[in-house]
Amino acid sequence: MTKHIAILTSGGDAPGMNACIRAIVIAADRQGYQISGYLRGYNGLLDDQRITLTCERMHNLLQQGGTILHSARCKPFTTEQGLQTAADNLSKASVDTLFVIGGDGSFRGAHALGDIWDGQIIGLPGTIDNDVAGTDATIGYYTAIETAVSSIDKVRDTADAFDRVFMVEVMGRHAGFLALHAALASASDYVILPERFTDERDTLSQICKQIQQRQAKRGPVSYVIVLAENVWPEGINDLCVKLAKQSDMEVKPVILGHVQRGGSPVSQDRLLAVQLGTYAVSLVETSTSGVMVGTYEDKAVTVPLPQTWEETKPLPDDAVTTMTTLMNERYQ
Ligand code: ADP
Repeated sequence: MTKHIAILTSGGDAPGMNACIRAIVIAADRQGYQISGYLRGYNGLLDDQRITLTCERMHNLLQQGGTILHSARCKPFTTEQGLQTAADNLSKASVDTLFVIGGDGSFRGAHALGDIWDGQIIGLPGTIDNDVAGTDATIGYYTAIETAVSSIDKVRDTADAFDRVFMVEVMGRHAGFLALHAALASASDYVILPERFTDERDTLSQICKQIQQRQAKRGPVSYVIVLAENVWPEGINDLCVKLAKQSDMEVKPVILGHVQRGGSPVSQDRLLAVQLGTYAVSLVETSTSGVMVGTYEDKAVTVPLPQTWEETKPLPDDAVTTMTTLMNERYQ
């Protein structure tokens, strides 16, 4: 009998989700599978909001940001009744395999569904935060770095013109991947990361010391700090006020916000989406289920869903060392 596969995108959207949908649809179509897309994440499973996906629909989709299936969060799905309704709807629609493109929250949901639905479940990592264990990178992460870097470059221009301090907040949820790489690639002067943050006072005095050392050498200076979201307990405005007071400089906050979730995916995200989407479809004829597909040293791998949130993905040591060295050396 023809296999019926279904796809949904869930949680925080990320550039490259469309490229991933496209890769799955093209690979699945080649196998002759019936292909459905559920709309608005797990909401589509609860309301049986489903569309047919065809290769024709995939035309010109690879480069588009967002997701044609829409994404959403879905509280009712987290309840026993919600999960049961979703399982019943999948069974009624005779779905054999469900592909969930999302982050670790979406994978928790997929895992819970796997306890009561006996179809095949495969997760694909799609989030700009790169905070999913078991994969070197997540779809959307590289584009978000690019967006952050191009914005910080612009901030640097105006910071230089006015010899000002700027504090740029980037996304990342509770992980510092985006902040670290955006700071490195934009030659920012300082980065505040959740994985390294210890103390408000220490951070403030370190930044002030560096600004003062630079002023002593060069006179008026600019200074750009990248702040990962959710790190500073009282938020970016409080940090700016405190830093302005202590450094006696004007400190401007810039919150990059949701622009980081948008835009056409860069090549690395497109390639990752194609690699993972194609690999995921190659698993349909196997008994593999309850896994996420990811990459390890460029090779496609599978990892059990719980591993994606039970383990904490560490920041890459080399990048942390490089950034720390740059921050310290610059102000010797
Ligand atoms: P992300 O996938 O980007 O990490 P969220 O953490 O917002 O996004 O999770 C997306 C959705 O996954 C939630 O709105 C919810 O429907 C579902 N979900 C998350 N955790 C669970 C859970 N423990 N059980 C069932 N569903 C869950």
